[in-house]
Amino acid sequence: MRILIVATHDGTAMHAQTSQTVSAVLCLTKAYDVLVVGSSSAAIVDACVKLPGCNKVIAVENTELMQSTAETLVDVFAGFLQDYDALVFASNTYSKNVLPRIAARCDISPITDVCEVVDQRTFKRPIYAGNAIATVQTRQLKNIVSIRTASFTAAKLLDHQAEIEKQTVEVNDQQQAKILRHEKASTDKLDLRSCPVVLSGGRGLGSAEGFNKLKSLAVTMNAAIGASRAAVDAGFISNDYQVGQTGKIIAPDVYYAFGISGAIQHLAGMKDSRIIIAINKDPDAAIFTYADYGVVADVFEVIAVIETHLKSRLR
Ligand code: FAD
Repeated sequence: MRILIVATHDGTAMHAQTSQTVSAVLCLTKAYDVLVVGSSSAAIVDACVKLPGCNKVIAVENTELMQSTAETLVDVFAGFLQDYDALVFASNTYSKNVLPRIAARCDISPITDVCEVVDQRTFKRPIYAGNAIATVQTRQLKNIVSIRTASFTAAKLLDHQAEIEKQTVEVNDQQQAKILRHEKASTDKLDLRSCPVVLSGGRGLGSAEGFNKLKSLAVTMNAAIGASRAAVDAGFISNDYQVGQTGKIIAPDVYYAFGISGAIQHLAGMKDSRIIIAINKDPDAAIFTYADYGVVADVFEVIAVIETHLKSRLR
């Protein structure tokens, strides 16, 4: 089975989601190739060649492709799919953008959000916001798959060197839509998708000022910030922090839920976390059913107690 993994990266470094995708792919095959699409991707390629089972890293360097819409990228990915049985992505905003278009172009039904590989044709994936797991079987000759990375531990980089192949691709610059620039919202925050500790806030934080208190605690704890959709919709924080069915799906070592009720759509994004700690003033809040530890209290009292305790220990 010839598999091409599309590397996830931020333009300069390989993201841990690539290694998690590799763990899923190793359940399908012992050897695969990796595709790195970027502009100055030397460091990303250097990391990818060390992935266990990686046969070859195909590096496509093109500044246009870093600024591309799905309409442009579809040509690149559909072209590569001709030489492989499956194209595998991490399930994230990038793949959610390009994958449906490749599927339509190639007339393939995509298999998304795979959380378990049963065999080369059979996969498990969550449905109904994670309340049920569907087992799907493909009879297609070629497949496009996205991996729910939170369900797989990251494969460790090895000391070996896979082959590197540089390729050039034709880019259609006549598309109707063009991305003019990317702006990073903030450079100081920790990455919600890979940080081992996440402090998430909900409507219970009450305001953007309430979130600032959680952000201050996150700095002390070296943790990333997350949020419920209610907090995002209320304008307490921007939507790139949203965890859940329509936000990011994460599985940190420790997930703190401050003032979050535990709606199924929120649980869909964090219930695979190793330890869940819920702080809520309502003892009947649904989140306590899923939490490993629960504190029935006011969120601000708990934030203040943890912060004072940690700061006194750090002194
Ligand atoms: P609430 O449900 O209002 O809960 C607030 C909690 O804070 C309550 O339990 C309350 O007891 C507690 N609280 C209040 N004040 C305090 C205090 N001072 N101290 C301690 N506790 C306090 N939601 C997501 O989060 N992510 C998603 O991706 C998502 N996708 C969705 C997709 C669809 C199609 C739909 C229909 C909904 C989606 N939702 C999503 C929304 C979801 O259904 C809930 O509305 C949302 O998760 C509720 O957020 P919350 O828990 O912050 O707010």
